[in-house]
Amino acid sequence: MSSAVKEMPVVWLQGAACTGCSVSVLNAMNPSIKNLLVDEVLPGKHINLRFHPTVMAGSGAPVIEIMEDTSQQKKGAYILIVEGAIPTAKGGIHGVVGERDGKPVTILSRVEELAKDALAVIALGTCAAFGGIPAANPNPTQCLGVGDILQSRGVNTPLINIPGCPPHPDWFVGTVASVLLSGLPRTEDLDEYRRPKAFYGQLIHENCPRRAYYDEEKFAKKLGDPGCLYELGRILVKAGYN
Ligand code: SF4
Repeated sequence: MSSAVKEMPVVWLQGAACTGCSVSVLNAMNPSIKNLLVDEVLPGKHINLRFHPTVMAGSGAPVIEIMEDTSQQKKGAYILIVEGAIPTAKGGIHGVVGERDGKPVTILSRVEELAKDALAVIALGTCAAFGGIPAANPNPTQCLGVGDILQSRGVNTPLINIPGCPPHPDWFVGTVASVLLSGLPRTEDLDEYRRPKAFYGQLIHENCPRRAYYDEEKFAKKLGDPGCLYELGRILVKAGYN
């Protein structure tokens, strides 16, 4: 990699998650995950993924050291990506990432520590953005989304939510590429849920191939019928198929 290439260090944490968000990103097509990790994402800009629990080859104390060094040495210049919700019950002990002085370190404190000094935090997937499945009732581990954690701890680092279960890889790659190209999104680039409007600004409904049926109020009565599926969806929800 030439010295003219600007590297963006990235630390990726996984909390209460199924790893589906990672799998989705691994399936990215354009650019592919290889291009994303090895090549320049944009001319002169390269992602340096320093820590990812399931993708990195290393393990144990050396990789924890790399993660901790990133926050020490690259203050304000790295991106923290969080996949999965954050357990908060019992001091967060239901989710730990490595040890310090022989004691487990919770992902709750890792997120707080790493988010404080990051350029930006990306909450990837519905679990990280809003709690998702791990936060579903009765939520025994008291999982929360990253935004709630940062807010409760007074961390003001810019947060970008990329929900979806899993999110489409293009939404993630596009957001990272946009940060590399033009810096952090402006307030008006995000919606009320801190999602990039470029990817979340329109409903599927607005570009649905059956949209003309909706406008003409022609609704399908059963699966396989021509027509808009809106009413059929409501019938199925009423029947308990939600
Ligand atoms: Fe898995 Fe969905 Fe949560 Fe991602 S958002 S970690 S795919 S359950």
